[in-house]
Amino acid sequence: MSNALVIAIDGPSGSGKSTLAKRLARHYGLQYLDTGSMYRVATVWCVDRGIDLDDQAAVAVAVRQMPLEMVTDPGAPRVLLDGEDVTARLHTAEVSTVVSKVAVNLAVRAELKARQRAIIDAERTDGRSRGRGIVAEGRDITTVVAPDADVRILLIATPGDRLARRATERHGAADEHAIEATRDEVIRRDAQDSTVSEFMHAHEGVVTLDNSGWQPDETFAAAVAIVDAAR
Ligand code: C5P
Repeated sequence: MSNALVIAIDGPSGSGKSTLAKRLARHYGLQYLDTGSMYRVATVWCVDRGIDLDDQAAVAVAVRQMPLEMVTDPGAPRVLLDGEDVTARLHTAEVSTVVSKVAVNLAVRAELKARQRAIIDAERTDGRSRGRGIVAEGRDITTVVAPDADVRILLIATPGDRLARRATERHGAADEHAIEATRDEVIRRDAQDSTVSEFMHAHEGVVTLDNSGWQPDETFAAAVAIVDAAR
């Protein structure tokens, strides 16, 4: 194992990936890459240009030209588009409802995978680079982007738990109305995303962590035990 740790975390929406990944990054002194933000910013870039998201060829051309910088500080992760901080726009409903259209575009996936790989490689320690180590999270990091990561975790939870968490995050409560308002974002998006990435079942060598009914502290403690056992 290289001395710059690379941790890959995948899972469906509402599984708590981002919370866990950022906390692990701070705990181990690593950088943090939220690959979901890259699909979200690609969506923003195309929408701002008036590109029809169903026009796969036009979307692919635009995304290849996207001037993107990912700031991987786990204390203040940011996404810069043409130098402008667009982080606050990425989790709006306008983006969440259509991001899967961009994510199922295979030419976009190839482009973003190459960029993700370059960011991860720069944080490794090997003959070419002396990196700081990184935690990368998404849907296909353990399988496609970084199957060679030192630690690979698939974080899952029941649909009910994931819906309740997203509803609380978005609406401040997990009552019936908030859950209904969140259902599309969580359940439909996962179904659509599942057509291009396998993130409900772990591949060989990937540790499954089911955090249904757990608090964030319990998820963190379990993940630290997995990482420490692998080091
Ligand atoms: O994780 P987050 O909800 O921010 O991801 C937004 C979207 O980006 C997902 O719904 C999925 O369509 C896409 N995505 C992906 N592969 C990744 C990360 C995210 O397809 N590695």
